[in-house]
Amino acid sequence: MVNDGPGQAAPDRLEAVRELLNTWLIPNDTRTPEDRFDAYATQQHLAPPERDQIRRLRDELRIAVERPDDAPGILNGWIERLDVRPAVGPDGIGYQHRAGTVGQLVVACLDAVAAGRWRRLKACPDCRWVFYDHTRNAGKRWCLMTAGGPGGRSCGSIAKVRAHRRRTRGE
Ligand SMILES: [Zn+2]
Repeated sequence: MVNDGPGQAAPDRLEAVRELLNTWLIPNDTRTPEDRFDAYATQQHLAPPERDQIRRLRDELRIAVERPDDAPGILNGWIERLDVRPAVGPDGIGYQHRAGTVGQLVVACLDAVAAGRWRRLKACPDCRWVFYDHTRNAGKRWCLMTAGGPGGRSCGSIAKVRAHRRRTRGE
């Protein structure tokens, strides 16, 4: 089973990025990392070479989410690689590219950066599931911190229990 509790979805097209990122996951029941990219690519009708490019994008964006200091370098690399350019439209500034689906995914990331939303896309430090932090102060760390449904583990509660045990043992 997968950790997708209610309220973890990202706004707008950023949700497509989150969906891509979570094609690599550690399911709760097995706790063994799984790569479901091939099933995703088939479902999205991705063909080579775009398919390989999107897999690479996923791997690099996972690093960008898990290590925020690396995000600018990674995103700038994709802007350059895909020749993404700013373009003025009727409602403001947007981005142009000729890179198909991979371009759309990169632009969704850039729009999120521009809107101050990128930092809200987070990977749970325990199970590494990527979720969108809707809290007011963007202070959420774990997936399902308060939303552990039936059968679902709650990474935040488990971490709290561990910390409590450490304290009570005086470690
Ligand atoms: Zn988690």
